[in-house]
Amino acid sequence: MGKLNNPNQHLFIHCPCCGQATLVSSTKKSFFCSACKFVFYLNCAAAGIAVIVNEKNQLLVTRRKKNPARGSLDLPGGFAEPGESIEQSLIREIKEELDLDITHLEYLCSFPNTYPYKSVVYQVTDMAFICDVKSFETIKARDDIDKFYFLDLAGLDKDLFGLDSPKKVIEYYLCLSA
Ligand SMILES: [Zn+2]
Repeated sequence: MGKLNNPNQHLFIHCPCCGQATLVSSTKKSFFCSACKFVFYLNCAAAGIAVIVNEKNQLLVTRRKKNPARGSLDLPGGFAEPGESIEQSLIREIKEELDLDITHLEYLCSFPNTYPYKSVVYQVTDMAFICDVKSFETIKARDDIDKFYFLDLAGLDKDLFGLDSPKKVIEYYLCLSA
């Protein structure tokens, strides 16, 4: 029954090992080659999300320049690169996207997410951290960020966010700080 849960079951058909069209999804994250017995895994990718709040209790949010959910609001962050800790990846992403320097970060929560990109559905483990930054003076939108805003946390509409994880992270953060 695992086959039915694999969101990429019709996409990967050729075995990356022997090259034959004999790959079938065997679980929600793996594919089995009936010819050479190779098993190909699409494991969860790790991603960091930053919760950055200014002195006016406003949340730093970004607008997505790219799909998925292009044009919707998002929280800053991104995927960990091979060899990085999740903290290192978040520090790098926040520098790349917004030119902000994180001085301190503290784990908040984690949620599963899916990230459809060029017809592959990537399974993601999103990890959110409450981040302090050195200063907001240098802030600018760059990389895959279109714009940024500081929005009042009180009464913030979660439906402005296109992806599931930022909604859940904000909900969690609001419950915690209520
Ligand atoms: Zn094979």
